[in-house]
Order: sequence, then C-alpha cells, then structure tokens
Amino acid sequence: FFGDIEMAPPIEVFNLTRQYNEDPNSKKYNLGVGAYRTNDGKPWVLPVVRTVEAQMATDETLNHEYLPVAGMPDFRKEAIKLLLGENCSAIVENRVEGVQAIGGTGAIRVCANFCKKILNFDNMYTSNPTWGNHMGIFKACGFSNVKQYRYWNAETRSIDFEGMIEDLGAAPDKTVVILHGCCHNPTGVNPNKDQWRQIIDLVIEKKFMVLLDEAYQGFATGDLDADGWTARYLVERGLEFFVSQSFSKNFGLYNERIGNLVIVCANSDVKVKVRSQMEMIVRTTWSNSPNHGARIVATVLNNAATLDEWKNNVKEMATRIILMRKMLKEKLSALGTPGSWDHITNQTGMFSFTGLNPSQVDVLTKKYHIYLLKNGRINMCALTTHNIDYIAEAIHHAVTE
Ligand code: PMP
Repeated sequence: FFGDIEMAPPIEVFNLTRQYNEDPNSKKYNLGVGAYRTNDGKPWVLPVVRTVEAQMATDETLNHEYLPVAGMPDFRKEAIKLLLGENCSAIVENRVEGVQAIGGTGAIRVCANFCKKILNFDNMYTSNPTWGNHMGIFKACGFSNVKQYRYWNAETRSIDFEGMIEDLGAAPDKTVVILHGCCHNPTGVNPNKDQWRQIIDLVIEKKFMVLLDEAYQGFATGDLDADGWTARYLVERGLEFFVSQSFSKNFGLYNERIGNLVIVCANSDVKVKVRSQMEMIVRTTWSNSPNHGARIVATVLNNAATLDEWKNNVKEMATRIILMRKMLKEKLSALGTPGSWDHITNQTGMFSFTGLNPSQVDVLTKKYHIYLLKNGRINMCALTTHNIDYIAEAIHHAVTE
C-alpha cells in the first residue's frame, strides 16, 4: 500500500523551526514561530491561566464526561460576548450561535464544511498573502475555486485597497470571502474604518458570505473591545456571517486547541437549524470537543476579577509588541538603513511584513543565523531588548550588502 507514496511538501513554518533547531551556532534567533515570547525569549503561561488551572486541579465537582456536541455552553456564551460586546443587538435578539472547535483552524474547517455541504458554496477568496492554511482547508473541504484577492502593495508596504476591491468585485456569486478581523497575518496591515465600510458595501451588493478570521483579538491595541470592532460593525450592517475565534494567542493556549465558530444569523429560528447542521458536522469530524482550554477560557471570562487580570495580561503582551516595533524602527533609522521603516510601527499584531526580499532573508539566515519566513514575515515577539541590536544590525547589513 504505502511503497509508492511520495513525500508531501514541507510545511514552511515547521521546517524553519527544524532548521533553527539543527543550527549548531549558539547565537541564533527564530523569528518565524507564531507564538508569543517574553522579553527573555521564553513562552509565557499567562498568570491568570496558571491560577485557574490550579483551582481546576482540585475542584472535585469537575469530571471528564463528554461535553455537548456543540461544545461547552458557558465557553461559547462568554466567547461570543467577548467578541461582540455584552450589549450587542444580535445577542439580545438570541440569533448568535457558537460552536466550540479545535482551535481557530477547527472553526475554519467546520465553517468550510458547512458552506460547501449545507450552503452549496464552491468559491472562496482570501487575501494575498494570507495565513498559510486558509486555501488548504477550503480545498480539503471540496471547494473547487479557491483564489486570492490583491491585498499587499509591496511598493508602499501597505494595503492595496483598489486591487482588493477590484478583485472582489470580479468574484463570482456564492463566494465565501475570508477577511482578517484585526492583526492581519502575515502583513500586520488592516483596512481602516472607511475602507471597511466600502468592503461591506460590496459584500452586501455581491451577497458574499463573510468568514471573519479573528485569531488575535487584543493584540493590535491591547484593548479587546477596540480589536473586536470589525465583527461588531458587521452586526451593525445587518449581515449573516461567520467568525472563527482562536484563543491560542490571546490566552497563550496554543496546544490546548481552543477555538469557537461564531455564527450570526438573521433570527433565532434560523440559528436553531444552523446549530443542528453544525452538530452533524462536528459529530462526523471530531465528535466531541476537548474540555481543558474551554474550561479555562469560560472560567476566566465569567468572573470579573479574573477577567480583569486577563485583560491586563493581554495588554502586557500587546504593549511589548508595540515597544518592539518602535525600537526596531528607531534602530534601523539610527543605522541609516535605506528605505522607510514606518510600516513597522504602522502595522499591528504579532507579525510584521518587513519588506525584506528572499535574498535578504537568505543573508540573514546563512550569515547571521536569524530564521524568518521567505516572504519576510517576522514575529515581533521574537525580538527582545537583548537581541534587538544584533537583529537590527543584521537587517541593516542584509539590506546594504
Ligand atoms: N487564523 C490565523 C490568521 C492564524 O494566524 C492562525 C494561527 N496561526 C489561525 C487562524 C489558527 O489558529 P489556531 O492555532 O487556534 O488553530
């Protein structure tokens, strides 16, 4: 059976980490990984998560029984409130559903399955560039027309808004459009509010189905409500739409695989039917969601004191990222590195699309043992006050050599 199988292509981001691990040089930096790091370059278990986990470990009322197929009710309810705000009209009108998922990835997968099987969509458009998995998931769910709309203008190092509108305007009927709610991965560039208005005008005109990918709420500004603006705006515009929420980043729960697919429906009757079909999809995909991450998120969000503590933890992460952006830009300016580096501080979220080209990336890796994706994306949290001078100088050399 297996003898003739060919090797699948490597997954770039995991391949990069393998190369980094195999590099014998002791002065090496991995700017590719998509996870938060402290100023000492370490993974961070959020203090509020530690506290709640300790309580959970000794709570004898908890057990390991199966959760409902759609996931833990408290988790879904709290996650929706966090996204849309407590007083959201769609919540008050009881027309928002949440389906617990295996990370943001699982939420996108369930959404793609639903759009194909239940809604008969066959076209999906996502930004160019985008998170490496969007296209693969939709193709795996049977979408035959998976395309990218223009998004990044390499010259201005900002959004190619005209290109985006032109490409979306030419997209066929029955298209699912993926939009990043905030902190676009990999560019760090998002539409402004006026541009969002124009995008949603087009969505309404063309009857697109929106999947808002919300993997970094809190990482743009440190303020969860401000970062939740996009989803709230879509509610205001009266859309039916999906949001894939991930708690990997803002709770630091990467390997617990905790996400939520939010579905905003026209009314509560529709919502009940949608949930029943979603349950069928979950049942045949992973049958039943895991408990641990959902319990942590639900417990933290459900209690004013832990909620406050978590908001401070998120703020701390966002603040460190913003500081690293500022320092990198200042160091490059001080070194006189050619070009404008304003985009580093204009961008938001975990990543920066540096604008470094593949041969400059090659210099950084081969000569300076600095590992980053070929498209020039760096994780801002991989920078620290200890390594930023070395990294800025290496970028300066890569650009000027
Ligand atoms: N969407 C985007 C834009 C992401 O960056 C990521 C994670 N890198 C995900 C979805 C998936 O998140 P998760 O790890 O929770 O599956």
